[in-house]
Amino acid sequence: MDPQTVFCPNSACPASGQVGKGNIGVQSLKERRYKCHVCGKTFAETKGTVFYRLRTATDLVVVVVALLAYGCPVQAIVMAFGLDERTVQSWQTRSGKHCQGVHEHLVERPHDLGQVQADEIRAKIQGGILWMAMAIQVQTRLWLGGVLSTSRDMQLIVALMQKVRHSTLGRSLLFCVDGCPA
Ligand SMILES: [Zn+2]
Repeated sequence: MDPQTVFCPNSACPASGQVGKGNIGVQSLKERRYKCHVCGKTFAETKGTVFYRLRTATDLVVVVVALLAYGCPVQAIVMAFGLDERTVQSWQTRSGKHCQGVHEHLVERPHDLGQVQADEIRAKIQGGILWMAMAIQVQTRLWLGGVLSTSRDMQLIVALMQKVRHSTLGRSLLFCVDGCPA
């Protein structure tokens, strides 16, 4: 545990969100809890992470989420690790929400984007198809995000453009299409 790398998660605390200010101490090594000396609140090492209040070893959760991310079927994971299907699905949901939060915090903020390119892929899912439209900044290959829809329509494109707009400096955008019926 390293108190220099964490911050107080209490949003009412004056030191909330500040790393390396010396206000955090280790409350309990056994229970893996920190204490903020400004507001006096204690918090778990895993607070604000995917692992918060999970009873499973973090190593196993990391392995399972990595397998899911690379397309391993849930049923294969359930069989291989002896896990409940709902457990695996809840880890997937938690991880997805966490990644979305990190993406919104780090990527969906004003950048000087220059040129952006967007495209969509057609994915087969159980009982149908799904379109995923994605955009990247050309110069740095920074992935700006993706949006999903059951049809390749105007709604999908507008949703993606709004995502791109969130990452711009608020200047005018020139939007060009190539063979897009919508
Ligand atoms: Zn605090």
